[in-house]
Amino acid sequence: MSTQTATYNTEDKQLIQQAYRQLLNSIKSKMDDRDRKHIREAYELAVVAHSKQRRKSGEPYILHPIEVARICAEEIGLGPTAIVAAILHDVVEDTEITSVKIHEQFGEKIGMIVDGLTKLDGLYEVESPQAENFKKVLQSLLVDVRVVLIKMADRLHNMRTLGSMPRHKQLKIAAETDFIYAPLAHRLGLYNLKTEFEDLIMKIKEPAIYTEISNQLQESKDQREEFIDSFIDPLSEELSVIPFPTRIFGRPKSIYSIWNKIKTKKVPFEEIYDLFAVRIIITAPLEKEKQACWQVYSIVTDVHIPIPERLKDWVTTPKSNGYESLHTTVIGPKGKYVEVQIRSERMDDIAERGFAAHWKYKGQRTQGNVYNNWLDNVREILENDDEDAIQFLNDFKTNLFQEEVYVYTPKGDMRVLPKGATALDFAFHIHSDVGYHCASLKVNNKLVPMGYKLKNGDQVTVITKESQRPSEAWLKMVVTGKARSKIRSSMKEERRKQGEFGMEALQRKLRNLKVDWEENVDTLVQYFGFNSRPDLYFAISVEQVNLSDLKEHFNVEGHKLVPVPKVQEVIEEASAPRGKRKKKYTGQPKLMIDGTVDQYEYQLGTCCSPVQGDDVFAYNSATGGLKIHRTSCPNATNLMARFGYRILRAEWIMGANTSFVADLLITGVDSGPGVIQTLSNQISSTLGLNIRSFYIDGHEGFFEGRVSLLVTNKDQLNIVIRVLKNLEGVSNVTRIEA
Ligand code: MN
Repeated sequence: MSTQTATYNTEDKQLIQQAYRQLLNSIKSKMDDRDRKHIREAYELAVVAHSKQRRKSGEPYILHPIEVARICAEEIGLGPTAIVAAILHDVVEDTEITSVKIHEQFGEKIGMIVDGLTKLDGLYEVESPQAENFKKVLQSLLVDVRVVLIKMADRLHNMRTLGSMPRHKQLKIAAETDFIYAPLAHRLGLYNLKTEFEDLIMKIKEPAIYTEISNQLQESKDQREEFIDSFIDPLSEELSVIPFPTRIFGRPKSIYSIWNKIKTKKVPFEEIYDLFAVRIIITAPLEKEKQACWQVYSIVTDVHIPIPERLKDWVTTPKSNGYESLHTTVIGPKGKYVEVQIRSERMDDIAERGFAAHWKYKGQRTQGNVYNNWLDNVREILENDDEDAIQFLNDFKTNLFQEEVYVYTPKGDMRVLPKGATALDFAFHIHSDVGYHCASLKVNNKLVPMGYKLKNGDQVTVITKESQRPSEAWLKMVVTGKARSKIRSSMKEERRKQGEFGMEALQRKLRNLKVDWEENVDTLVQYFGFNSRPDLYFAISVEQVNLSDLKEHFNVEGHKLVPVPKVQEVIEEASAPRGKRKKKYTGQPKLMIDGTVDQYEYQLGTCCSPVQGDDVFAYNSATGGLKIHRTSCPNATNLMARFGYRILRAEWIMGANTSFVADLLITGVDSGPGVIQTLSNQISSTLGLNIRSFYIDGHEGFFEGRVSLLVTNKDQLNIVIRVLKNLEGVSNVTRIEA
């Protein structure tokens, strides 16, 4: 590494060595001489290979792979093989080192993991790169889980250091993380990673709210700690009767989860009671841990009154991602609700580090099987893959990232299905033949509709009939990928059979017209706008295409069908790329898009109603035209993650004098018929704004009003919110996203 290191100066070298030393110190797993040698060699190779690269922040690039390796070792708990692969993860893609060289120097296992990581990058030419990427992530999961775990560490480090990227890139990476990596981290039981991903995503998407909540958390810290002490103190003493050592502490919840509560419960920060959870961890031998957890539970609920319906027992039935823990909510001092999580050291390790920890405890229990089951599901969905990528992705998300529901066969065998699964899903889950011929369903001995949503503990009986066949309507009554794809392929088969009649009719028709079959079928397919011959046959068989008026569309010229020319055909627009057509400015709000003004046609998204000043982006929709969305729009994440290449930067041109629609939700104490009067007076007379609509609804002394008004920008909207909040009787005013 003598000649090329010239690109590192003394300061760089110090930084690199320091990072490397930190990495070595973080390794907890056992290593032999060969492991140590590989790590050293990987480091030396990567230092040289990346010597000409720098990160956006200006640091030497090599610091990134070293840090990714440290995350793998310290935060995920992976061993030497993964650490070596992590150090090498960008080498093949970014430098001249080849995959062959890695295989030669480090062996097949490491070579294969590095190959997997290399393959996961790139690929942006296809219609839906994210869906494709996602599939690749899953495929690599089946090859070696470490590929995905290292990829997570890579993503985590990139998210932590996103600051020096341009804003639109930050948004894109955040959306992709939201779409793929956060749910996957959750599914693999990597709770720490998942939580940090969510916070980092929020920090990028909603920087103002993020900062606000984190400041509020900081300010209320002392008070909170005092409260936690008052909760824990009486418990600590009682816990000493347990024959095992216990640890008890308060744990703050993530900023993201607090923000979620504020949004869903529509209450201000001050009214969120569970800003933290109390955790009790027991050091007990494996065979005693369950019993110890329940012992602790009984002590907790002796000291503080429990709320029985909040008891969650994942000790008896662990979640399918391996999570084991006992959760309860009790009433603490000052009547405040407190969530208490009870678990053993081993359970805690698994909860924090998921998959990686499972390896450590493998063999101790059959619990590891929950992963194998899950991986089997992944395999099944990947194999069952004749569908388009987006459909695949949706199926996947509903099936493998969701909580589950436990139900029983008539014989008492337990079956696990994704939450939201229906009785018909259950039939397909038992066997595809049982699904195909499902005629009726019973839950707990009562007949239910096929679309009945399963509940925990349901006992399901399927009654089949040989003559039964799936129909289009069934697709609406299932949620699992298996059922869906089985029904679809059965429908396809039915369609093909039905289409045979259409094909025969067409053959007769062409014979009568004395035109060639092979030479003309595809002309017809194209002319009527179908994708394939079977589609045309089917359309003919259901008389969507009428063969008797074929002569109105075609002339026969020497055994060939020639379309009759149409009088008015619009071809002028066909050459202009969609969304890029020039447009006269029509007094709409002004935005600068992709650095230019007046070049694009656009509309404001009706889903999130952006107003001037909101963080926005432009999305080039498939149907043409650009749509402007707020970055916080619920659709945005989806769009950005799936169609990153269709996103254009959009910035408001301040000062443009136009109006935007904004919707507010106002709640308060009902002070009689005067409420509407007061509110509308404030808005229209005092603030001088136009109201588009105003609904108000009162019950039991409270009212809820929805007002839609026109504002010029976000600052003005914030003023309106502040003024209304200060009115007597008004308790809260929030902006609503449709
Ligand atoms: Mn990387």
